[in-house]
This record gives sequence, C-alpha cells and structure tokens, in this order.
Amino acid sequence: MFDNIIENAQTAIINSVCELIKFKSVSVETQNSKMPFGEACKEVLEYILNLAETLGFRTKNLDGYCGYIEFGEGKDLVGIIGHLDVVPAELEDGWYSDPFIPNIRDNKIYGRGAIDDKGPVIASLYAMKAVLDSGQKLNKRVRLILGLNEEKNWNCIKHYKEMGEESPTIGFSPDADFPCIYAEKGILSVRLQHPFSIPFMEILEINCNHNALNVVPKYCSITLKDTHSATTKLEFHGTAAHAAHPDLGDNAITKLVKYLNSQLPEKQTQDEFTILTKLYDLGLFDITTPQFLSTEPIEDESGVLTSNVGFLGFANQLLEIGLNLRVPVHTPLSEIKSKFEKLAEMFPCMQINFTAEQAPLYIEKNNNLIQTLTRIFQQKTNLPANPIAIGGGTYARAFPNCVAFGANMPGQKDMCHQVNEFIDIKNLILSTKIYAETIYELAK
Ligand SMILES: [Zn+2]
Repeated sequence: MFDNIIENAQTAIINSVCELIKFKSVSVETQNSKMPFGEACKEVLEYILNLAETLGFRTKNLDGYCGYIEFGEGKDLVGIIGHLDVVPAELEDGWYSDPFIPNIRDNKIYGRGAIDDKGPVIASLYAMKAVLDSGQKLNKRVRLILGLNEEKNWNCIKHYKEMGEESPTIGFSPDADFPCIYAEKGILSVRLQHPFSIPFMEILEINCNHNALNVVPKYCSITLKDTHSATTKLEFHGTAAHAAHPDLGDNAITKLVKYLNSQLPEKQTQDEFTILTKLYDLGLFDITTPQFLSTEPIEDESGVLTSNVGFLGFANQLLEIGLNLRVPVHTPLSEIKSKFEKLAEMFPCMQINFTAEQAPLYIEKNNNLIQTLTRIFQQKTNLPANPIAIGGGTYARAFPNCVAFGANMPGQKDMCHQVNEFIDIKNLILSTKIYAETIYELAK
C-alpha cells in the first residue's frame, strides 16, 4: 500500500541519512540550558524537526533534551522511540573514511550512527510520511520521539516524562533487531570494596582506563613498588565486547587477578591479602552464573545469567571491583541482590553498592503487539519471524507496551558501535516499508 511512495522517496531517504551523519552528535552533559547535551545534539535535533515540518508534520522541541514529530488525530498515541546521539568515533580507530562524513560504497551508507540510530530514525520518519501521503484514515496519533542522551543516561527520556509529556499507549523502538525483541534481561551493576594489599609490595596504581561496566575490559595494569623501591608495571591485554556477551570478549582484569593469585605466598590467611583469591574461588570472575549465586545455571527462555567484571581500581588502600550482570527475565533482581549481600556478610570489611539496575522487559510471545510486528516482518521479507530474547537493554524500556523492532536484519553482522558502521541501502528502504505498514496497522 505504501511501497510505491517509499520507492519514489528513495533519494530523499538516502540524503537525509547522510545529512544526519554529518552532525557529530556525541551526547555531552553540559550545564548550558540552551544545549543540555552539547551543540551538535542541539543542531541535529533542530535539523530533523525542521525537515519534519517541511514534510507536513507537527513538531516539538523539549528544551534541547529531546523532541518529537507527530501526525494524525485521536485519543490514543502510537509511539516510535529513537535517538540522534551517537557513540564517539575517530578515523584513527580504523575507519576507511571520516566517520562523520557519510560515504556510500557497495550500496551501503558508511558513517557513525548509520544503523544506530540515525538510519532507522529516517526510515521511521519517511514511513510516517508514506502513511500521511497515502491518505489512509487513522484513528490514533503517531509520534516519533527522538532522544539525545540514549547512549549515556537517558536524561532525554527523563526530561520528556518530567515535562508531563504523554506516554504512548503502544509502540516500538527501531533501535535493535528484526524480527522483534520480546524479552530483555534485567540489568544490575554492583561495586565491591575491600581493604587490599600484597605481601612485601606497595601497590602504586591499578588502572583499567576507566573502563565502563557494560564493556569487557581490554586493558588492565598494576604498578608495584618492592622493598628496594624498584617499581614494576604489569600490563594485561584482552578483547573488548559488550557486557551482554562476555563470552565474545577476553577480560584483561581477570587475567591480572589470575596472575596476582598465582603469585600469592603461601600461609597467608588475612582477608586483606587473600580477598582476591577467595572471591575468585567463589566464582566472582565467572562469566555465566557465578558460582556464589548458584551451583546450577540460572537460565530461562531469555538465556543464562551473565556477569562482566568491568572495573578494577585501587584507592585509599581499598580494592574496588565493578560488575555488570544480565539477569534472565524470570529471576527477580532482588534474589540476586540478596546473594550479593550474603557474599558481603562473609567478609566483615566488605562494602557493597548496587549502582544501577533496570527491571527486565518481557512481553508474552502471543501478545497482540508481538504478533502484529512479526506478521508484518514476515510478509515483507519472507523470512522466519520468531521473536527473540536478548541480554542488552534497548530504548523500548523507555515506555510500557513498547518493544524493539529492527532495523538490523537477522543474520546480518551487528554494526552498532563498531568501526566502519554502515546501513545497507536495500535494508534501509525495506525497513521503511516495514515501518509504514506497522504504523498503519497500529494506528488504523
Ligand atoms: Zn541505539
């Protein structure tokens, strides 16, 4: 019904993705009320809101935190939740061309944000345009909500809610994978602190380059001074990966811990010396279901519990260990937290803090929204359309009754946050067609 309109708009769609890529919209939290996430974020939002107005939509800029684009009439609201901020990228990281100058090669648009999430945002916008221009009657309003702080702290969505803006009654987020995601594991971040020292050595520094807890650390070093004042720096290298898939990385912190444990002189009993060995033996560095949580794997339809030790530091004679856990949807986070509290009870000097948590997202597979999205995906692609469960947290959690839907195609390498990120033009246009049909189905 909308495919012809979209095919005729192909050039405009490609150009719009390229224009968005040119904004270096890495979200930086500032004190400037005119641009709470920096100049490029302010400008990219203004650009797309202007574009949307020329296409015939109503728009609203919410103080530079986020904005939305809307059309249609009716009491209920269909939401599409995307973002315009991106993760940093530098040519030196190994890009074939400047990540903020769009480059079309082999029918793909290369550039930071191409698939996460500027391409899918433009697909959603032109899908709305196709529905608008088709003249089909809708009974609900459709609103594309665009955040500018998704890659950091979601303060954009917080602002949207604080301003009393309407929550969609149903919706999707074009910021992950097709066919659609019905389950996202719970997320828990924990920090442990304990006095620590190494016999006959002074610890000058432990450094993991301020690694974020949701990333498998690729580097960790320790600098030691011996009793003759000679200093040694030991460096350990691994491979970075997303914390939702610690099995795909190689943890540099764990390598350092294993090394230190192998060097511990025998007959040490005080916790101050043996804490790392004891925690290691209790399974704190295990990547799936750490042993102290359960001797049986904690798993369900959303997969197994995973854990990533993402931070190791040393300050004021205290060792600090930071972890990020991905908890299967049917296991309450409170159960996992109480296991950590029990662990802390075993060590009288241990401090424990839960620094972040996100409840899981779970919508029954036979729910109407999931059924509608997968049916449309299958009709448009002729591909199998089994909804999937993931360990990551998507933007769909911003609102109830919302799931992640595209735009990465099944079997395609996930280029989000990667060097040489791209969106395939064929898939960009196909996604636009899928979204148009979806908007119509949800809003008619
Ligand atoms: Zn994203």
